[in-house]
Amino acid sequence: MQYRTNPRNGDRISALGLGCMRLPGPPGRPDPERARAIIACAVERGINYLDTAYLYPGNEACVGAALDELGLRDRVLLATKLPHGSVRATADLDRIFDEQLRRLRTDRVDYYLIHNVTSPAQWERLRDLGIEDWVARQRAAGRIRQTGFSYHGSAGDFPVLLDAYDWDFCQIQYNYAGEQYQAGTAGLRAAAARGLAVFVMEPLLGGRLADKLPDRARRILDAAAAPGLETPAAWGLSWVWDHPEVTMLLSGMAAPEQVEENAAVACRALPGSLTPAQHEVIARVVEEFARTNRVPCTGCNYCMPCPQGINIPGCFSAYNASFAHGWFTGLSQYFTASAVRTSAPKLVSNCVRCGACARHCPQGIDIPARLIDVGRRFQPGPVGWALRAWSRRGR
Ligand code: SF4
Ligand code: SF4
Repeated sequence: MQYRTNPRNGDRISALGLGCMRLPGPPGRPDPERARAIIACAVERGINYLDTAYLYPGNEACVGAALDELGLRDRVLLATKLPHGSVRATADLDRIFDEQLRRLRTDRVDYYLIHNVTSPAQWERLRDLGIEDWVARQRAAGRIRQTGFSYHGSAGDFPVLLDAYDWDFCQIQYNYAGEQYQAGTAGLRAAAARGLAVFVMEPLLGGRLADKLPDRARRILDAAAAPGLETPAAWGLSWVWDHPEVTMLLSGMAAPEQVEENAAVACRALPGSLTPAQHEVIARVVEEFARTNRVPCTGCNYCMPCPQGINIPGCFSAYNASFAHGWFTGLSQYFTASAVRTSAPKLVSNCVRCGACARHCPQGIDIPARLIDVGRRFQPGPVGWALRAWSRRGR
């Protein structure tokens, strides 16, 4: 495993971290046995950073149980996140954090993040509630070691947030398809210049730069394959690790085999290891990806559940797939995502535009509006009338 140093405290952190949000299992119920196998394999391969969050349903408890049962708690740096929207008073900080420690079966969190910050105003609200003193008390008691935030706001707001507190680290979305998106390359450099450790999330955009990469983009990568760069995932991860400012990237690995593959890439993807010709290859892939990337959904599920039962990320995935892999492929995926073959389909046309989903989307997608686009693509004219009639029959 390749390790990089946290400039704030000297922690040696594996360049590859385990993002636990995508642990396998039914929605909200990660499978404990499979989670144990993935975590055991990760630690065996030298991964020493695990990331979870209060808001990932069932996730903290699953990770905590796995670490406890495997006896691995002291071999990893454990990160979790504060759901800042749930904090109405200072007492909520204690209530939520105590619950997190119980779920995680631990007496400390190594890396504690304010989750999904999108504007400096959200931090200012927490500061007015006394979070700075609260964090200081937790650190003095050894219950929190490092303090940071995960970010999904604009490039312009990012430096303001960096300067609003004495952060140890930040976590940003970063990948070759999004150099100018959210914090972006400028944000990466700004955080590193301030001496923060920088952790990267969504290095493969929820698989859209890996297995779901558009066919033409994949062919470009296949033609340029080299040792350590045999798969789209290896290209995407290596591009992130090529940046010396990146301390660690999180990958949501759903099986031990994925851990093995990504760990092998991590061993050789050192900063500056991609050649100019390989950067040129990626630039061509970015052009191709941009042509088919109609909705920037990463499949994070933050918008779910929809009260109308619509599988929002599944519908967007099908929509993008219809441009990346052909209309029939997308349509087939849409039929699966919307349960068309059952007695109670959940079509995008069932959306009542309540807006409950959009305010949770870290990508800022206008979900109801974009679902109309999905409907136009997959339920045009008479097809749509027939599907809607079928859907109403099942209600
Ligand atoms: S706006 Fe539509 S998709 Fe979003 S939660 Fe409401 S019904 Fe569901
Ligand atoms: S629409 Fe937004 S919140 Fe929902 S899965 Fe996609 S990126 Fe996540």
